[in-house]
Amino acid sequence: MKLLGWLGLLFGLTASAAAINREAFTVTRYDLEVRLEPEQQRLGARGKITLRNDSAQPQKIATLQISSSLNWRAIRVDGKAVQYVSQTYISDIDHTGALSEAIVTLPAEIKPKDSVELEIGYEGVIALDTTRLTRIGVPDEIAKHSSWDQISPSFTAVRGAGYVAWYPITTESADFSEGNSLFEVVDRWKAREAGSEFDLALSLLGERADASPTLLCSAEAQGSSAEAEKNRGARVKCRWNPLGTVTPTFAMAEYVDQSNAPLKLFSLPGHEAGAAKYSHALEPATKFVSEWFGQPSAPIAIADFADPHAAPFESGTLLMASMAAEDTKLAGINLVHELVHSALPSSRPWVYEGLAHFAEAMYRQEQGGRQAALDFLGLHRAAFLDSEKEVLAASQKNAGEKEVVQKSVGQPLATTFDETYYRSKAAYVWWMLRDMIGDDALKQVIRKYRAEDDNNNNKDPRYVEHLIEAAAKRDLGWFFDDWVYQDRGLPDFHVQSVHPWKTEKGVQFLTVTLENLGSAGAEVPFTILFEGGEITKRIEVRAKGTATTRVELPGMASGIRVNDGSVPESDLTNNVFKISAP
Ligand SMILES: [Zn+2]
Repeated sequence: MKLLGWLGLLFGLTASAAAINREAFTVTRYDLEVRLEPEQQRLGARGKITLRNDSAQPQKIATLQISSSLNWRAIRVDGKAVQYVSQTYISDIDHTGALSEAIVTLPAEIKPKDSVELEIGYEGVIALDTTRLTRIGVPDEIAKHSSWDQISPSFTAVRGAGYVAWYPITTESADFSEGNSLFEVVDRWKAREAGSEFDLALSLLGERADASPTLLCSAEAQGSSAEAEKNRGARVKCRWNPLGTVTPTFAMAEYVDQSNAPLKLFSLPGHEAGAAKYSHALEPATKFVSEWFGQPSAPIAIADFADPHAAPFESGTLLMASMAAEDTKLAGINLVHELVHSALPSSRPWVYEGLAHFAEAMYRQEQGGRQAALDFLGLHRAAFLDSEKEVLAASQKNAGEKEVVQKSVGQPLATTFDETYYRSKAAYVWWMLRDMIGDDALKQVIRKYRAEDDNNNNKDPRYVEHLIEAAAKRDLGWFFDDWVYQDRGLPDFHVQSVHPWKTEKGVQFLTVTLENLGSAGAEVPFTILFEGGEITKRIEVRAKGTATTRVELPGMASGIRVNDGSVPESDLTNNVFKISAP
């Protein structure tokens, strides 16, 4: 009997735990005051958050999650403490591989679309922790360069959800070892929070007579310098509204401030030469960005790492990148990226980040030619190739089962919160558009682009397409359907046939037919090699289609090379065609 009762209790608990909808609530507003105690690696936070019920059912239970190294101290509604149970929830969304979860019983049921404001308090330690990486076999030596988040007396930098839950989140468990599960949970979280507001007041607790560290949370951070308020401790305020793709991040170190508007440059002692590369690259980078995107006006910030091998990270217009290496090329490219953000705000990730990465490639071209730019883009191709191959496999499977409604796989660029798409794939899409419509038309599009006309409530969901079509005087609906509104995978080109012939007057021609085996169409360049030279033409080949053209040649053709790398393809092994002499 005793045992049965115990089992019943156990099962009862399991059932209620399973019934919790962890993603029912979205945090639509954060108003947090965070105090750092670097000597103790400690953080204390208090403030208010607003939860909105985004589920279809009324909710009485809300789950709030913070890093497992932090502890809940208080949760109140309308000034009254509410009942909550605190537990550890295993999830790779945090660097410790677990979360401190508060299962909160709200004073009243919250109806769908209604909101509730909670006063919260939590505190704890944020130390360097590579658990979630080392437990899937990543050596600690490598893991610590990507999992660098920590509060420490010498160097503090902490990224938000997806790295360290230093503010409350509401997510289902994410698992690194299960393929894309972690990224899916993080992307879903970011999509839910994209419209949320975040106000952060960050301060340093306690005086440090020997030091005057700089606190950073965004390029726009409003605050007093550590110097001026030494007696009261440093304090800055950051505001992200809306959050968009930004991961709220803060940093604190004994930075040397070498700012020169609009660039705020924070380097660490000993990295002067690396920081100087940024200072020197600012003028040419600004000139380049201004010509394409307009004058950068909003501040951008680039901050150094104590660990020279730390993986760079971007949060809005704050870029964290090591200045230990003296790399002129990298400094120029990093500046171009951030200056594009400064000049061209957008709430569309594929526009905001896609254009910034596209601009990096263009800057590479200016410095090292088209091939250097295509090699640079090639590094991006690897990032989304695998996901696109899954799309291809799914579409082939569906093609065999005609009755089955096309299963939605992949990530349409227009709506994705997956970084590899809105950064890497989007960079290619802008590059292809530039190749198709030319520099002048694209510059005109960028000049006319207004973020406020391209938001999610927009009457015209094809806003960008229409700007481009107007500038290029060309119908590009098919291109946007294949690359932006849908994820149809990648094209796969090959030469289907060639036919050399001569006119009566002896002029040589080659009739070329290209086939695209993929489900996304593109305009692709192809180069005909002949005795004494080569000639490059461009041709539009729609998805699963062929296109034929004829080219006049000054000599006998010996081969054809399709795609110089400017169009991301699923298979590049079938792109060279040899023409044997007749
Ligand atoms: Zn960016």
